[in-house]
Amino acid sequence: MQSPALDTHDLWLKDKSHCVHPWTNFAEFPDKGSMVISHGDGVHVFDTDGNRFIDGIGGLWCVNIGYGRKEMAEAIARQVMRIPHYSFFGSLTNPPAAELAAKLSELAPDHLNHVFYGTGGSMANDTAIRIAHFYFNQLGRPEKKLVISREGAYHGSTYLAAALTGIRHDHVGFDLPERLVHYVSAANCYRMPPGASEDDYRDHLVGEFEDKIAELGGDNVACFIAEPIMGSGGVLVAPRGYHKAMQDVCRRHRILYVSDEVVTGFCRLGEFFASEKLYDLKPDIIVSAKGISSGYLPLGATLISDEIYEALSVPQVEGGLFTHGFTYSGHPVCCAAALENIGIMEREDLCGHVRETGPYFESALRENLRDLPLVGDVRGSHFMMCIEYVADRETKQIFASGVRIGERIAAHCQRRGLIVRPIGHLNVLSPSLILDKPRIDEMAAILRESVFATIEDLTNEGIAFA
Ligand code: PLP
Repeated sequence: MQSPALDTHDLWLKDKSHCVHPWTNFAEFPDKGSMVISHGDGVHVFDTDGNRFIDGIGGLWCVNIGYGRKEMAEAIARQVMRIPHYSFFGSLTNPPAAELAAKLSELAPDHLNHVFYGTGGSMANDTAIRIAHFYFNQLGRPEKKLVISREGAYHGSTYLAAALTGIRHDHVGFDLPERLVHYVSAANCYRMPPGASEDDYRDHLVGEFEDKIAELGGDNVACFIAEPIMGSGGVLVAPRGYHKAMQDVCRRHRILYVSDEVVTGFCRLGEFFASEKLYDLKPDIIVSAKGISSGYLPLGATLISDEIYEALSVPQVEGGLFTHGFTYSGHPVCCAAALENIGIMEREDLCGHVRETGPYFESALRENLRDLPLVGDVRGSHFMMCIEYVADRETKQIFASGVRIGERIAAHCQRRGLIVRPIGHLNVLSPSLILDKPRIDEMAAILRESVFATIEDLTNEGIAFA
């Protein structure tokens, strides 16, 4: 759908003068401002000047069904006219919230049959930790409160979710709870110790986890939180057997396993939930957001096990309530959007499409990029991919941050009609899941050209690489 004529400069100026953006680089924002994206269609987005881009980042890892879905607009409009909002507190509900909770319970591993709604991933993770605390209080284990997360993990940006996040530079300038969250290493197979096999590396990480539990005392640890594939931390695929082995350790210490599937869920890896189907994991809690509504409306869901629900649902004191929730918990329009989104995924067998096309995406990127200078690693799974750039392919040494290698290559891609996400020395790709093979070829070709264009820039500027 074409947007009405928009005044790019006027919007750019208003935005620059009044919007505070997440992760703003204030060193350049006052001059540069923002690119104004006005509309989308399928796997493409358009800026206000009518330039078309393949959206290599799916909004922000979330527009799984692609843009411009009329069925979504109709489902949302229908629900707005029925009832746009009503309290979900206590014993009030609405049809889409009830239907969606039943649907999520059907799609999730068998033992996860209870859903708590919020409006995004951070809130859903926040809820997971609050529930873990409440659960152990209910069991008479009030000392079991600490959380173990991983270096490099991203779990969100509320006070608690930011503390779960192990990306240290995201902590700078903010105060976070000091003793609550502890971190173990990320599972980074590209940078595992030289000479180690994947199995050695897994055992090493599991050993480190056991040591951390011993240091903190298993009786003090409530839960471990991990993404099946670490997303913003670099699309890191763990060594085989890692998640299962980490869960076995958790089980021995009665530590809950929280699987953050905010990115990996809803077909991105070819399954509605990756934990059990792909990693043989039975998490106590699964956290979901993003693809649950394909970003058409904000929604997050925390799925909890029957066992946790049972403990939670006993009044802790006479007249005691489960005092956690939000005005927009169980929002009828957001839940209606999610139901329609899941309906589209099922009718079109989007998971099947990803299972078939994902390996093609992986190999197109690998074949076109792996052997180029600057490219250290091409990794990921299905529609969750990443390219790591290095100054030296032999030593894996990265460029100084001032070179801004990820941004340089992303800028070249943008000039050629592809949006990729630069994160430090990485480019991350998380496109809509309706992507077809010709578009995948186009993306791989643009990335390849952009690496060559960047090589030329670096050479002209005398920046060394090997
Ligand atoms: N968890 C993961 C794995 C994420 O990637 C994100 C966001 O990118 C979040 C949680 C936070 O979600 P939200 O931004 O919806 O709060």
